[in-house]
Amino acid sequence: MTGAPIAEKAEYVRAAIADGRSGEHHCHWPGCDRRVPPASWGCREHWYKLPQRLRSKIWRAFRPGQEQSKTPSADYVAAAREVQDWIAANQTHQASLF
Ligand SMILES: [Zn+2]
Repeated sequence: MTGAPIAEKAEYVRAAIADGRSGEHHCHWPGCDRRVPPASWGCREHWYKLPQRLRSKIWRAFRPGQEQSKTPSADYVAAAREVQDWIAANQTHQASLF
């Protein structure tokens, strides 16, 4: 399913959410402890704070099922790290909130 179109992946994540397959996963935004479905990167609010290019990157690297197997692809790990770097570079002024 590596080459699955993004729309298909979005559908997969929606189905996982509808299924109530949410668990012990927190939003990846630093300091945010909202619970989100394992198949999604983070809560809606923070996801949409990310630039489009990073969101596309996450989508491209995401492989349906990775949240079950707990073995995301190297691409996904790299994309997730890039997102953390972006947040660190762009949100430092909010650090005092936490
Ligand atoms: Zn969040």
